[in-house]
This record gives sequence, C-alpha cells and structure tokens, in this order.
Amino acid sequence: MSRNAESTAFRSALEVIRAVEPRVADAIGAELTDQRESLKLIASENYASPATLLAMGNWFSDKYAEGTVGRRFYAGCQNVDTVEALAAEHARELFGAAHAYVQPHSGIDANLVAFWAVLADRVESPALKKAQVRQVNDLTEADWFALRRELGNQRMLGMSLDAGGHLTHGFRPNISGKMFDQRSYGTDPVTGLIDYDRVAEAAREFKPLILVGGYSAYPRKVNFRILREIADSVGATFMVDMAHFAGLVAGKVFTGDFDPVPHAHIVTTTTHKSLRGPRGGMVLCQPELADQVDRGCPMVLGGPLPHVMAAKAVALAEARRPDFADYATRIVDNAQALAEGLLRRGAKLVTGGTDNHLVLIDVSGYGLTGRQAEQALLDSGIVTNRNSVPQDANGAWYTSGIRVGTPALTTRGLGTAEMDQTAELIHTVLAQTTAGANADGTPSKAKYTLDPDLADKIARQATDLLAPHPLYPAINLT
Ligand code: PLP
Repeated sequence: MSRNAESTAFRSALEVIRAVEPRVADAIGAELTDQRESLKLIASENYASPATLLAMGNWFSDKYAEGTVGRRFYAGCQNVDTVEALAAEHARELFGAAHAYVQPHSGIDANLVAFWAVLADRVESPALKKAQVRQVNDLTEADWFALRRELGNQRMLGMSLDAGGHLTHGFRPNISGKMFDQRSYGTDPVTGLIDYDRVAEAAREFKPLILVGGYSAYPRKVNFRILREIADSVGATFMVDMAHFAGLVAGKVFTGDFDPVPHAHIVTTTTHKSLRGPRGGMVLCQPELADQVDRGCPMVLGGPLPHVMAAKAVALAEARRPDFADYATRIVDNAQALAEGLLRRGAKLVTGGTDNHLVLIDVSGYGLTGRQAEQALLDSGIVTNRNSVPQDANGAWYTSGIRVGTPALTTRGLGTAEMDQTAELIHTVLAQTTAGANADGTPSKAKYTLDPDLADKIARQATDLLAPHPLYPAINLT
C-alpha cells in the first residue's frame, strides 16, 4: 500500500465532512496538529494506526446487532458477524484465551459485563436460576425481591484507589462501590509494592466473591499466579482488569506468573491504551463463564458498535505481528529509562522505579501538589495527568502524584536517549515551579508560579525532541 493512500483517505474524509460542518473538519485537523506538537505522556493514551482509525469511519456504524455472532435480535447482521468473529478470533489467538467477547464499548463496560457474569455464575439464587432458564414470566414478586436481595451486597476485594486500583474495582463514586460490599488491599508503606501475604490475610478475613487484580497506576509487575492461589484458597472468582498493560501481555513482555490470562477466571481490558487499538473494551474468560459473558448485550450493554469491532479486528491483527512484541519491549525500556533519568535528577518515584509502561512521580518531593505539577507541565508542552500516590495527603482531586507513561511516545519512535531528555524537561519544570498561596495567605493546592519564558523554552525543547519522530508521517492534510 502506498503511504500516499493514507494521506488521500484522511484528506478526502475531511473534505466530505467540511462540506457539511466545516467547524468539525477544522477541529479534527486541529487535534492532529495538537497531538503532533505535544509530548504525550498520558499512560492510558496511544496513537492507533491509520488502518484502525479508518476501519471506524464507515457504514458499519449504522447497524444494530444486539446479541452475538449467529444469534442476533436483528436481521441482516452477516457482515457484522464476520468482523465480530474475526476480532474475537484474533483476541483468542493473541492472548491464548478460551473465549473472547469484543462488544464492550469501553473498559468500564467490560468490567460491568464481567461483574454480571460472575454474579450470575456464582450467586446461589433459585430465583435467578429460574430467570436464567427463561421462565421469567413464572417468577413471582417475592422471587424478584429475593433475586435482588441475593444479587446485591456481594463481596469484592480489589486494589485500593490510592495504591493504583481503578474506580470500577469497588470504589464509592462508581456503581461497583455501591452494589458490592467492598474491601481493598493496599501496598507496603515502605516499598510501595503489593504485599501478597496481606492480600491473603484480607481475603481470609473478608471471603470475597470476586478478587480483582489489575490497576491504573501501579508501576510494577503483578504476580497473578499468587493472586489466583489466594482466590482459590477462599473460593473467590479471580478477575483481572488488564486495561493498562494489555499491550505488554500481547507483546509477551509479561509472561508466566505475570500474564493474567492463564491464571484468571475472567480478564477485562480496554483496547485503546498500550494495546493501541480503537477506544473500546473486551472480556476474555474461561469456558464456564462464556455463556454469561456473551449476554453482555443487551443485559448490560447497549447495541454493539460494529465499526469499532471492525477496528478492534484490525488492531488485534496488528498486535499479532512480530513487530508488536518489539514495540511492547521498547515501551518498558523507555519507561525504565525515564524512571532512571528522573531518579538521577533527584525525583521521588513510587516503588523507586518501574517494570511496566508507567512511572508515578511523587511531586511532594518538589513541594507541589499533583494539580500544580500537571498544569505547570502542560504550560511547558508536556501532557501528563495528576494521580494519587499511596496514602495521599492531598486526596483524589489535587493529589500528590504525576503519572507518566511511554506507550504513545514509543509508538512515535522515541527511544531511551530521548527518555533521558524527557526526564530532564520534566525535572526542570517541576524544580522551577513554586507552589502559590490563597488570598488569605494559606497555601494553595492549585496555584503555582512558573516563569513563562522558561515554560516556552521547555515547550520548544519538547517540540525539538519530537521533530525527528513525526506523528502519522504519511498524512498531510494541507
Ligand atoms: N480499567 C482500568 C484499569 C482503567 O485504567 C480504566 C481507564 O482508565 C478503565 C478500566 C476504564 O476504561 P474506559 O475509560 O474505556 O471505560
């Protein structure tokens, strides 16, 4: 395929859009410019391939396809069946999974599908059994009451939010924290690492129905074999949310005890972070949960997005190529180079480093909150996000941390030498930013001072760093 084809495809698409609503075409163009010019260190973002992006912009978007392959509630789904089956096949082969469900619209949706599947599989509820065998009309009001009582208030044990867990692993602001009786495991206060003995102790005391592994902001490998043993010892279903590190599993950087797929009963993921696909979610599971998982739509999800499933099939096919393993290895090499560069310059890192795609900087070492650091870095052309650190004194809004990740810059082709330069830019900004004060003189968690000339200089240096690695080099919109 000629590189020109990519340029023609996107230019033509924008021309068609511009004829209807030019402001949308302009915004799409501006987004490409912004992404090209900023040093993107958001650990959960990436750059999908032109093939993946193009697979979403078509008439598959018009199809309703509730149900699953070959068992739809709508007629005329033969082509949707083709792409859904392809995406599922690529996912099974890539991850060595017994079953793959590729319909979830996002990671949160994938987790809800998984929760439903585990509840339906595990909760002893005669009323639910009746409902499952489609005797719904035979259920009395008392049956429904019992069903709600039996499904509600089940127990979930997941990683705490400030240790790096995700909202959907049982936290109050999310529905998982409202429907489950939740307890969490944290990390060792000195090392910042998961203490598996403490997890086992919490599991023994709490006896969860579901033990959740996986994280959004934990910079280390997790031993899923040990977590499975803990789950087995208390009769829990072991679920892993690998949304963040799915690309490292796909690229065989995480194998053996660190690959969740052979160890978990059920694995959920997003497809758009380190896996570098379209925005979306996916569930992988063992055969006994497959039937419940496949009820995801319409049980939990709205109609599937066939255009996104087509893009998932494309991205998963890309992830099965040998060069994806090289990409995944480089993600981790880059994260480690970034961590070493920061440490050498005196930054304080949670766990003292990384063995995955992300680094968590404790910016209290610079006298800043996460919010101040995030904004000062943004002023300097460096895009990151603030994040809690374990036992965070500033809470989940202001935080004391900055999370940085390497999947996106690695896609652009930046390497370890450039990660050291990136560490220099981050350190300079953080070291030169000072926390501000409120009008009454008390310390502000949001205000800060950074010399605008320095911010401009760093932004220019960030652009210089990116210049040899153009984003979507074949695409020229002018
Ligand atoms: N699970 C984990 C571990 C995540 O980090 C995230 C997103 O940040 C999600 C789930 C939710 O993904 P989405 O935004 O696609 O719903």
